[in-house]
Amino acid sequence: MKKGITMTDLSGLMAPYFGEIQEAIDRVVRSGIYVGGREVSEFEEEWAGYLGVKHAIGTGNGTDALAVALRSLGIGSGDRVATVSLSAVATVAAIEMVGAFPVWVEVDFSTKTMSVDSLETVLESYSRTPTPVKAIVPVHLYGHPADMPQIMRLAGKYGCLVVEDCAQAHGASIGDGKCGSFGHMSAFSFYPTKNLGCLGDGGAVCTDDEDLATRARMIAQYGWKARNQSELPGMNSRLDPVQAAVLRVRLRNLDHENIRRRELAKRYSAALGITSLTLPDAAADCYHVFHLYAVQAVERDALMRHLSMDGIESQVHYPTPIHLQAAYKGRCLEGADDLSITESICSRVLSLPVNPSLSDGDVERVIASVTSFRF
Ligand SMILES: *Cc1c(COP(=O)(O)O)cnc(C)c1O
Repeated sequence: MKKGITMTDLSGLMAPYFGEIQEAIDRVVRSGIYVGGREVSEFEEEWAGYLGVKHAIGTGNGTDALAVALRSLGIGSGDRVATVSLSAVATVAAIEMVGAFPVWVEVDFSTKTMSVDSLETVLESYSRTPTPVKAIVPVHLYGHPADMPQIMRLAGKYGCLVVEDCAQAHGASIGDGKCGSFGHMSAFSFYPTKNLGCLGDGGAVCTDDEDLATRARMIAQYGWKARNQSELPGMNSRLDPVQAAVLRVRLRNLDHENIRRRELAKRYSAALGITSLTLPDAAADCYHVFHLYAVQAVERDALMRHLSMDGIESQVHYPTPIHLQAAYKGRCLEGADDLSITESICSRVLSLPVNPSLSDGDVERVIASVTSFRF
C-alpha cells in the first residue's frame, strides 16, 4: 500500500533541519534565559531585515500580533475595521479582541484578496457618518499579495490606518516590496503549518515607525515602559526564545522553500489546465508564495472524496465565510451587502497539497488522481 499524501507533513518539513534545530534548542536550554533575551532580539532583527522594515516585535501568536498592531494604532472600542470574510476566523477574532468590529469588504474573484472597488464603496459609504472606517485589515490569502498600492491609496484618501494580515504570506512580494512592508503595521503568524513556522505558537508585529514599534513592544508586555512601569494598558503576548531560535534556523531556508512551493504549483498549473478547474494565478508584479494551492471545482466535495480514495488529503480553506459562521452570523452585518464572490469561492475552493517536503513523485500522483476524476 502506497503511503498517503498529506497536506502538511510537519516532521517531514522539519527533518532537513533536525540537527540545527536541536542545537538551537540546546543553546536556549543552556542559556538559562527562557523569556526574551538574545535569541528573540536576534530573530526580530533578522525578520525585520528580511522584510525590509525597521522593526519586528515577537508575539505569542498571529492573532495576538494583529490585536497588538490594532491597539498600537489606537483602534479600540466601537471602531469600524474593514476586512474580508474570506480568511481564517483569527483575522476577525483579533478585531473583536480590541473591541472594534468588522465591516465586510468583498474579495476579487481572481486574486481572492480584498477587492479595491468594494473597499472604496465601503469606505465611501461610512465616510460621512460619525464613525467612519478607522482601519483596514487586508489579508494576503493563500500566499497571494492583496493589492497594497491601491489599498494604501484609498487608506490615504479616507484617513484609514492599515494592518496587513501576513499570516499566509511570508516572503510574498509586490514589485520589490515584501508583504508586511506596505501597511502602517503588519502581523505574522509562525504557526507550524505557515510558510515560516515554529514548533508551536509564535507571531510578530512589524512596522517602519519607531513610535508604533515602541507602543507595540509595550502593549505586548503589560504596557511596561520599563520593568514594573506600565504606561499603557497592556497584555502578555511574547515570542518565546525556543521558538525564536527555531525560527532563525528556518528563516535561512524560507526563500528556498518558497521556491519549491512555486515549483510544485507550476507543475499543478501546467498539468491541470486541461480540467475544468479554476486554477490560481498571480496578478502582475506579484510574487505568490503558495501557502496553499487553492483551485475551484464545481463538484468540490466529490473531487475531495475521489482524492481521498487515492490516499491524497485535500482541505477546504474555508468552508464557511466568517460572516456566516455561527459566532458572527446575524450579528456582524456591516459593509458590503453582497458577498456572493466570497460565498461562491467558499463553496468551490479546494487546497491541494503543496508543502515543500512533497517529492516530484507525490505531485505526479496528485495530478494523476485529479485528472482521472470525471468532471
Ligand atoms: C493562521 C492565521 C492567523 C492566526 O494566526 P495564529 O498564530 O494561529 O493566531 C491569522 N490570519 C490568517 C489569515 C491566518 O492564516
